[in-house]
Amino acid sequence: MVEKFDCIVVGAGMSGNAAAYVLAKRGLSVLQLERGEYSGSKNVQGAIMYADMLEAIIPDFREDAPLERHLIEQRFWMMNGSAHTGMHYRSDAFNEAKPNRYTILRSQFDKWFSRKVREAGALVLTETTALELIFDAYGACVGVRTDREGGIVHADVVVLAEGVNGLLGSRAGLRAPPKADHVALAVKEMHFLPAETIEARFNVKGDEGVVVEAVGTISGGMTGMGFVYTNKECLSVGIGCLVSDFARSGETPHGLLEAFKAHPSIKPLIEGSEVKEYAAHLIPEGGYKAVPQLCGDGWVVVGDAAQLNNAIHREGSNLAMTSGRFAAEAIFQIKSRREKMTKDNLARYPKALHDSFVMKDLRKYRDMPALLHTNSRNFFLTYPELVAKAMENFLRVDGTPKRETEAKIFSAFRKARGFTGLFGDAFKLARAWR
Ligand code: FAD
Repeated sequence: MVEKFDCIVVGAGMSGNAAAYVLAKRGLSVLQLERGEYSGSKNVQGAIMYADMLEAIIPDFREDAPLERHLIEQRFWMMNGSAHTGMHYRSDAFNEAKPNRYTILRSQFDKWFSRKVREAGALVLTETTALELIFDAYGACVGVRTDREGGIVHADVVVLAEGVNGLLGSRAGLRAPPKADHVALAVKEMHFLPAETIEARFNVKGDEGVVVEAVGTISGGMTGMGFVYTNKECLSVGIGCLVSDFARSGETPHGLLEAFKAHPSIKPLIEGSEVKEYAAHLIPEGGYKAVPQLCGDGWVVVGDAAQLNNAIHREGSNLAMTSGRFAAEAIFQIKSRREKMTKDNLARYPKALHDSFVMKDLRKYRDMPALLHTNSRNFFLTYPELVAKAMENFLRVDGTPKRETEAKIFSAFRKARGFTGLFGDAFKLARAWR
């Protein structure tokens, strides 16, 4: 006989673990399928984890979650080949009793989260791939076929938490596969250094940490960014750009990462480190307009599979956890009212998303992805060069009168973009940011 659960969750990343935990904790029978050897074995993230969204699921997570450093300083850099112009924010207010942002290592963090899911009562099957969704004669999803022997399992509802590729959902025609200009390909290395070296180089102590996020000529005119995140005894160093830009430019992610690491502002931070891991992964960056249908009869889609990622603020895991929680809460409500898992009933889930920061933020930046993509050469090449040159001229004291220096700077901007271009870019940016 085919086994039946209240709910099947496909995927044990941030969104799947959040959904499975909330469902199991509320007493539903949950089967979670993960194709990796263990939860986290396939997952890649920078990674900054946002505490409030985890706290809403596991309030006392700080007691035993594997957290690396809490962030007290953020550095935003605009780079050209030899310089960076930075805006740094550092505050002792971030040294609070319950810090707001932490760096984590996903392989360890996901293992911990998965243990919590099991302890809550879910059945977690790793090394098990969901191959296809099963539908009844009326088009409602009623289960999943896995790669295990006799591997058909039924459920009232399937939570698709399968990450950015989302093959299961797209194969079933629930949504189109992500477009090349809606996903970034990011590569990341882990650079190991003694904790004292990290603390001295980044001017932190204890568990304090720093984030460096960089845009500019490092992405060669493509829409993208680089980053350095401090963990306890290693640095996460990576860079990512839109897949369509890689295809157009012929650049390789590996080539960009090597150039990023060799940049005079990055090289001293990682000098002498031992590289132990290299990973590549996609990030959904299509924003609000790329979000697919979020539920149907017998299914919901959460996290990266639903393109829920705020590329402007580099937030993904928090949207993933929140969407997993909202989906689980909607399912629990429907179940406790003994209603059916129809699209109309499951619509509580997208409604909760729309009422929350998740869709409000994505909606706010809905025009940003297209703006950055169509103007990538200006925003990621021309302006970073102009800004670096302007700063160099501004700061160099060589006897040139200041009025002449300023005129030279303004003239460089005018020459590169013209008055119309400058005002047009500022206007488009302000409108897309509204
Ligand atoms: P995932 O974490 O990708 O999990 C999906 C899971 O589903 C995987 O474990 C996979 O093995 C499993 N799976 C897929 N298909 C099947 C199947 N058919 N059967 C069984 N299992 C399946 N976000 C932040 O908030 N902060 C950051 O600093 C940050 N940095 C990032 C840096 C990089 C380089 C990348 C790539 C992403 C970053 N993100 C960051 C985004 C963040 O990682 C994602 O938004 C988040 O992991 C999404 O969680 P998810 O559960 O939806 O998907």
